[in-house]
Amino acid sequence: MKGQFPVDKFRDLRTPFYYYDTRILRQTLEVIRQETEKMENAVVHYAVKANANQEILRTIREYGLGADCVSGGEIKAALQAGFSPDKIVFAGVGKADWEINLALEHHIFCFNVESIPELEIINELAAVKGTVANVAFRVNPDVKAHTHANITTGLAENKFGIALGDIEQVIELAHRLDHVKFVGLHFHIGSQILDMGDFASLCNRVNELLTLFEKHHVEIENINVGGGLGVDYQHPNRQSIPDFHEYFRTFNSLIKRRNGQSLHFEPGRSVVAQCGSLISKVLYVKQGTNKQFAILDAGMTDLIRPALYQAYHKIENISSELPVETYDVVGPICESSDVFGKAVDLNKVSRGDLIALRSAGAYGEIMASQYNCRELPRSYTTEDLL
Ligand SMILES: *Cc1c(COP(=O)(O)O)cnc(C)c1O
Repeated sequence: MKGQFPVDKFRDLRTPFYYYDTRILRQTLEVIRQETEKMENAVVHYAVKANANQEILRTIREYGLGADCVSGGEIKAALQAGFSPDKIVFAGVGKADWEINLALEHHIFCFNVESIPELEIINELAAVKGTVANVAFRVNPDVKAHTHANITTGLAENKFGIALGDIEQVIELAHRLDHVKFVGLHFHIGSQILDMGDFASLCNRVNELLTLFEKHHVEIENINVGGGLGVDYQHPNRQSIPDFHEYFRTFNSLIKRRNGQSLHFEPGRSVVAQCGSLISKVLYVKQGTNKQFAILDAGMTDLIRPALYQAYHKIENISSELPVETYDVVGPICESSDVFGKAVDLNKVSRGDLIALRSAGAYGEIMASQYNCRELPRSYTTEDLL
């Protein structure tokens, strides 16, 4: 055992694999439960796209959360894990007919609609089934989140949502269509947000809209503020649970909810990032011209975030206590971007050492690919290894 890892158990397993510390996941879910119980009428839908591993999904469902899905496949994964359809929301700019039909057949809680043509198709498909679909409109709030450019979604220039200026017209249209029922507004401004000021800006925008709709006598039942809470990638041990207290408090105190309006959240990363690590073995230590490389058996096919977003993951040698040396930590894939970290300080590395890439529970396993004809990584939870 080094730190929280059952290293001896790891030695018997084929690497690379994802290890999920279910104790951390459960502690995180407990905090979410406690914080949301303090609020009136709050519903949390876990964003399945962060990690759709069935064991993870089942644990999350046990704590009473709903699911936020962005594809038919995710709806199926959520149903398989036992999520109740009346707690499933379905977002995405490009919903295919079969995905809409699947959601209609299961009577999910709500479609988060992103355009007028999509609204018309949902109405049409619901008519064929003789049903009425609940719809919320995803508003593009034109609020900037201070995060990586590839993961901001709430600016007018992004492809997501309906422009502020068009929203009234869309609601009017919904009222004229017989097979959709307008139930609320949806927002999502981006991911890995740590500045509560960004969420406060979103709250101000929500309040402006609530006032506007009140003037026009349009009733809003639900307000869904999306996800986006960030995690501390630098200090996965010190801050294993994100600051949900501040997060929920910000929305609950700043949004001026009218009577009975429910407040919905869609956290993904913040629920699962810190419980996961990618565990890999060192294949070779190679001397370069001015540096040394630790070459792992895990690569960007197993964890693509560093290559895709220049994301930082803390890297640890969990099988050595030797003095620290400096390495470029790389994978075996034939791409120059297959680098997990440059000039990383690690306890001296030898062939066969086990390396942990921390905070990899979100957008890790789910984004794995088979490029280079590699196998997909397996996964184990704390309970699997008892
Ligand atoms: C991705 C996404 C989320 C979750 O975002 P996180 O940053 O992982 O919390 C929530 N809602 C929608 C609509 C999303 O697309």
